[in-house]
Amino acid sequence: MIQQLALSKTQWDEMRVHVAKQVPLEACGLLAGKNDRVEKVLLVRNQAQSPVRYVMDPYEQLKTFSWIESHDLDLLGIFHSHPIGPETASVTDIAEAAYEVVYLIWSLSGGIWKARGFNIEDGQALDVPLVIHEA
Ligand SMILES: [Zn+2]
Repeated sequence: MIQQLALSKTQWDEMRVHVAKQVPLEACGLLAGKNDRVEKVLLVRNQAQSPVRYVMDPYEQLKTFSWIESHDLDLLGIFHSHPIGPETASVTDIAEAAYEVVYLIWSLSGGIWKARGFNIEDGQALDVPLVIHEA
């Protein structure tokens, strides 16, 4: 279990811009890195094209997984957005969490995007601190 996730300001902005662009649809992607430090944000198309649901495009997901492997990185996180809330993991998110990674959820409230990280295990979503560093 990853106890906290470290991201650069640039990676944070990359995700935020991407999720904002996809509104009103949910957006999704993967976070690759080592230990608890993200090295790369990988955007994946939401095949569901839905405002309340995401399904990673299987072809893009596969391509992304092999990119991560070929760069000797690990899958650390999966992010997606909730353009119309909630800011926590939904029942579906908890039911479908298949990986031991940090689930990072972006939500929009009052025009401001924010993100929270969760470990999802045994039907529960527990907060994981997100640490943002420069560069
Ligand atoms: Zn969700």
